[in-house]
Amino acid sequence: MLTCLEDIDMKELSEVFDPKSQDSFVSLYLDTRRIDEKFVEKRTSICRSVFKINRPMLDNFDKTMETIKSYLAKNPKEEGQAGLAIFASDTHDFFKAYKLSLPVENMLIADSSPYIRPLARLIDDYETFGLVLLDSQRARLYVVCSGKIDFKKKKAKDIMNKHKKGGWSQARFARLRQGAIDKFMKEVAEDVEELFSKDHVIKVVIAGPGSTKVTFQEYLSQHIRGKIVELIETEFDEAEHTLVSRAKEVVIQDEKARDDEMVAKWREEILKSGLAVYGVTETKVAVMNGQVEVLLVDKDHRIVGWICEHCQFLDTGKRAECPYCGGDANEVDVIEEIVEFAIRHDTKIDFVESNPLLAELGGLGALLRYK
Ligand SMILES: [Zn+2]
Repeated sequence: MLTCLEDIDMKELSEVFDPKSQDSFVSLYLDTRRIDEKFVEKRTSICRSVFKINRPMLDNFDKTMETIKSYLAKNPKEEGQAGLAIFASDTHDFFKAYKLSLPVENMLIADSSPYIRPLARLIDDYETFGLVLLDSQRARLYVVCSGKIDFKKKKAKDIMNKHKKGGWSQARFARLRQGAIDKFMKEVAEDVEELFSKDHVIKVVIAGPGSTKVTFQEYLSQHIRGKIVELIETEFDEAEHTLVSRAKEVVIQDEKARDDEMVAKWREEILKSGLAVYGVTETKVAVMNGQVEVLLVDKDHRIVGWICEHCQFLDTGKRAECPYCGGDANEVDVIEEIVEFAIRHDTKIDFVESNPLLAELGGLGALLRYK
């Protein structure tokens, strides 16, 4: 079964690490749309040559890779699957595999904890949204999760034909017809409330021909109305996949606009030395103190640094030993580590794409709740 991103326990993944600071966890990401047969072999041999001098580490790596390979052999690509993420460690008796409906870049990393940044980024990019397609007598409701339709419901009602028949007066006919439409809208709205009130439906898109989608909003609660990002003009019979793609695009654009607003707000706060921090050290401290409202991370930025898994001290640059406790220092991507800290502290993370200001200020920063 494909995993819905919302169902992944990111907190659990972020909390796992090797207390002895050994690179005993393997994180494997595969783009399953076009499987590169040689990729895993190549990376395996590179890692093995690094572990050669450390027998127990090599043993753990080999055993972990055996488990991963046997999983791969037993789990051929499923319909709709575009990616795969596996986190495993033999010594820690740890194994998690997620079949994803979204593609990921091939990656095999051996580290002292699962490498979760690519997954966290997908979760930020593909928010679950609700989609309503309706005209005055038919409705379809969708919940789109991780870019795929996760749930749908159809509803239709025989609303009196637009042309009056029999002996009714025009006015009486119009009244009855309007009453029937009104009742139908109320029923659809009830379904929407029930389905989309759940926490994980973050945004709502309403689609359909003409003015029905506009009037329909009046039947919805304030709570749902607050989640609406756009109304899409479309025929009721537009192909499902076309409609879902259009809605997905709208949701992604909305997310991008919100990210840019967030960076603009962050910039303002920095200028007036208000509720904002930037740079590795200050951002890390703010995350650890639980002061962060939103962590802003440049999507493609990496910062080379080290972490002491013993005392968790994190800094940029290179070191073999922690200067504070003498523990072993492990080379890391500082941004990945801060993302992990943030997830452990239930902090919201925004992965921002190509924003020059954020890139200029080191690719990392945060808006604070308090100072
Ligand atoms: Zn230390």
